[in-house]
Amino acid sequence: MKAYAFDYVRATTLEDALALLERAGDGGKLIAGGQSLVPALNLRLLAPQLLIDIAHLAELRGISSDDTHIHLGAGTRHVELATSPLVGQTLPLLQMAIRHVAHAAIRNRGTLGGNLAHADPASELPACMIALEAVMLVLGPKGERQVPAGEFFKGLYETALEADEILVRISIPRSPAGTRCHFNELARRAGDYAMAGLAMVMQGQDSGDVQIRPVFFGIGDRPVLARHAALCLQQAENLIDGLEAAQQALALDLQPQDDLQADSDTRMQLAKVLLKRGLADLLAQGRG
Ligand SMILES: Cc1cc2nc3c(=O)[nH]c(=O)nc-3n(C[C@H](O)[C@H](O)[C@H](O)COP(=O)(O)OP(=O)(O)OC[C@H]3O[C@@H](n4cnc5c(N)ncnc54)[C@H](O)[C@@H]3O)c2cc1C
Repeated sequence: MKAYAFDYVRATTLEDALALLERAGDGGKLIAGGQSLVPALNLRLLAPQLLIDIAHLAELRGISSDDTHIHLGAGTRHVELATSPLVGQTLPLLQMAIRHVAHAAIRNRGTLGGNLAHADPASELPACMIALEAVMLVLGPKGERQVPAGEFFKGLYETALEADEILVRISIPRSPAGTRCHFNELARRAGDYAMAGLAMVMQGQDSGDVQIRPVFFGIGDRPVLARHAALCLQQAENLIDGLEAAQQALALDLQPQDDLQADSDTRMQLAKVLLKRGLADLLAQGRG
């Protein structure tokens, strides 16, 4: 199939992109890497009248840091995140996850902002953003606002972004020394979207005073921080003692759905397996 006809314009600045978006009203659509949007256009799932290209905007690019945060421009491509020494040192979870995002050709063009704005529930990076307590900087006609990652993903392909807003930057707090992280997903083939996945960050020791953020994806209509399971682990004498209760508590955290890949019982079982494997990995990292 071919896309419906549309007009195309390349924005020259962020301000220009905002003005174009506002003028186009419901008919306007941003395009960054095009890796999710173009397939949707070709399948005629969307019919925008005007595509506004933001792929070349310098204001959206770049990876930087200050004393407290790492800042990732929304237009940063997956390949740039995967190869950045700063990201490798400070956000190893992101580099673990990006290996699972699609294939090299798609990672060469796809952007972080496009990936997050697309909000595929089986996508790896939204879950990482919640685990890492990222904050999204969003710009619209009314000015700037900051949205915590935990409030950004609203449902199936739905985010807190308004139609006339642009995701500009993602800021992630620096992790304290000794932070451990884990990423794993279960997919039918490498490069496919996951049937179930887990991004997890842990601070503290294996027994007592531990903070743990297990975020599951591919299981419901959005990534989910498993708060009840985390509490079971945090309240246990040590992580392994808390595992069984945490696995049971996943029933309170997750609403797995049936689809062509797996039914809800299978997905819940996959979540329990991922949690067990994830804890084993975190404990092994603690032993060095
Ligand atoms: C075969 C295939 C396999 C894939 N597998 C995976 C996978 O395993 N995991 C995964 O996570 N992804 C996967 N993807 C998607 C890929 O990661 C995309 O790069 C990404 O989802 C979208 O980024 P993009 O820059 O291409 O966005 P685009 O396709 O250009 O845009 C996507 C959406 O985001 C909006 N948008 C883009 N930038 C902004 C912005 N700055 N502010 C506001 N809205 C914006 C657009 O208007 C559009 O609605 C796959 C894609 C393909 C084609």
